[in-house]
Order: sequence, then structure tokens, then C-alpha cells
Amino acid sequence: MNPGSSLRIGRIFGIPIYIHASWIFLFVLITISLGVQFTQQHPQWTPTQHWSVGILTSILFFASILFHELSHSVVARAYKIRVDSITLFVFGGVARIANDPPKAIQEFNIAIAGPISSLILGGAFYALTLIFPYDTMTGALALWLAGINATLAIFNLLPGFPLDGGRIFRAIVWGITKDFTRSTKVAGTSGKIVAYAMIVFGAWYALSKGQWQQGLWYAFIGWFLLSAAQESVAQIAVKETLTGLQAADVMSQEVPIIPREISLEDYGHEVLRTGRRCHLVVTDERLVGMMNVNTLNSVPRDEWAHMSVQAVMIPREKILWAAPEEPLLGLLERLLAADVNQMPVVSGGENGESNNAHIIGMITRDSILRVMRTRAEVGPVVPAK
Ligand SMILES: [Zn+2]
Repeated sequence: MNPGSSLRIGRIFGIPIYIHASWIFLFVLITISLGVQFTQQHPQWTPTQHWSVGILTSILFFASILFHELSHSVVARAYKIRVDSITLFVFGGVARIANDPPKAIQEFNIAIAGPISSLILGGAFYALTLIFPYDTMTGALALWLAGINATLAIFNLLPGFPLDGGRIFRAIVWGITKDFTRSTKVAGTSGKIVAYAMIVFGAWYALSKGQWQQGLWYAFIGWFLLSAAQESVAQIAVKETLTGLQAADVMSQEVPIIPREISLEDYGHEVLRTGRRCHLVVTDERLVGMMNVNTLNSVPRDEWAHMSVQAVMIPREKILWAAPEEPLLGLLERLLAADVNQMPVVSGGENGESNNAHIIGMITRDSILRVMRTRAEVGPVVPAK
């Protein structure tokens, strides 16, 4: 889900398309297994034919998944819901839709568009097999793609979050109960049930039928679904606990500062003495940068004595800022996306650049996690208005 381990391959309808690293592994695996399958089933073909049909089939499989995700995206767009990106994974793809659809019927239509498009594709490939017999290259390719698209449609219709079927299920529960959070929990739970069922089925298949490869494959998909279901439920929990909170609510008001000319050795002592992990670097009462333990540790220890803080600090223009009124949920996402642990909170100026802007506190990932833990312990809260 994080574009960090993904490769951007292009843009369609203005939506950036990524391939997850795991997909490249799958592409190779499928191409090899298709090459082997075609070699066994079509001894009259040349090896070049076996492998080129194998590669072409793999590419069209990839295109089929992309088509599936694009169909979700097109429906979302029709409802004026932004689509940030599409990432292709081992088991399909994820269209990252900027926000949850405001209406249950919209979510239903966005979700069902994918399986329908896969079924249509499967039907089209099946129609090709009626024209081209299986011993032709087109026929062999079309039959495999007809099967895989039908499988994709059916698998995605399983009623567990985060699959399309889970979204469809959530939309139905949401439409009936009018309670979005509850419907997500229900869909998350059914996602876990589907996942456990798949793991148990895979184990049974491997043990009782001796079909190790197939069984392990089912169990692996189940395990993948389980973690995805847990993640989507956790996301909802995070959203719930952070609703109504702003940066100013949980920031720490103490802002430790250090001068820029001290050595890294001295900075290390300061960190050890105070336990503070992040400092603003100030000279003549002017902010010039930020220094923290990660940056310190990125420098080999034997160089600490003759290097100054200024040489390695994060320069002022690269510091990410938070506004005191920034909602905590978005801020946490920003911290995670940028992979930083803390941000200064600045009041009275965009991005801390104007002259009357001043730093009023520091916000850290830890402080956000602490408030989440506390809120989870105390129980549901009514957000103060
Ligand atoms: Zn889908």
C-alpha cells in the first residue's frame, strides 16, 4: 500500500499507476509456469512459441488487473471522488480512492464495477476460444485468460474486507444501518472469517489431498487477506480515536534548542543527558535547522568529534511543519508518509516562513500514539465541539 516499495510505470486518465515489488515476482512465476504448461500441452510448438505466448499471456493478465482497477476508478471519478493512484499487487490491485464515498449506493457501484469488468473480460476471452481452438496460440492464451478473469471476479466477490465483495457487503450493511463505522467493523470481521476459512481450506487441501502447492497457495492468500482485513479495521479504529483532535491538543510545548556550532560529540552528550531526541538549531535567535537522533546516527561515530551540527542538520527549508489547528489524523498520515518522527508546530504563518511565525511546540509520532492508547483505554469519547 505504500508507494515506497512500488515502481511507477505510467499514468492513465491522469491516475499514476504503480507496480508493487511483489508483482514482479509474480510476473516471473506466472510466465515460467505458463511456459512449462504450454510446453507440456503443445509439443508441436517451438520453444520460442511456448515462451512468447507465456510472456504475452502474463502481460495480458497484468492488463486485465489494471482494467479491473481502472473500472473502479472510472466509477469513482463519475461520482467526483478523486483517485490518487493504482497499485498492482500479487493478488490484484488497489485503486487508492482519496476518501470514502459519501453514500452507500456509490460505494456499492464503485466496488461492483471491478468484478463486473473482470467477468466481461473473461467472457470476451472465452468468446475467442470459440473461434480459435486450444491448439492454436491465440486459443491457448484466451482460454487461460478467460479462466483467470473469471477467478479474479469470483475471488474479489468474497464478502470480506478489503476485497470488493467486502466493500459491497459494507455498502449493503451501511445502507441498511446508516452507520458507516459499524458497517466497516462488520465487513472487517467477515474479512477475517473469509481469511481464516481460506487458511483452513488450504491446509486441509494440502494435507488430505496431498496437493501441497495448491493448498499452500490458498493458505498464503488467506494469510494475506487476514493481514489486510486487520489493517483496514485498525485504520478505522485510528480514525475514530483521533477524530476531533488537533496538533495543538497533543503537542509538547517545550521546544529544546541547540546552537549550530556544537560538535556532534557534544550533541550526543546532550541527547544522552536529557533524553530528548529532537532539537531545533538556532543561531542569533533565528531558526536554521533541525537535528535529531536519526540524523546523528547517520554519521559514523568516529567522525562525531570533528563535525558540527550545522554540517548534518536538516536545513530549515526542508523541515516539515504542522499548523496548530491541523487535524491529528492527517498529521499522523503526513508523519508516516514522510517517515519522520516529529514536526515543529508553527503558528501565525504558512510553512513557518513569514516573519511573525513562531514555533509553539513539537509534535511527535509518540505523542499521537500515546493519545490513541489513552483514548482506547478510556473508551469511546464524545468529541468536544
Ligand atoms: Zn476490485
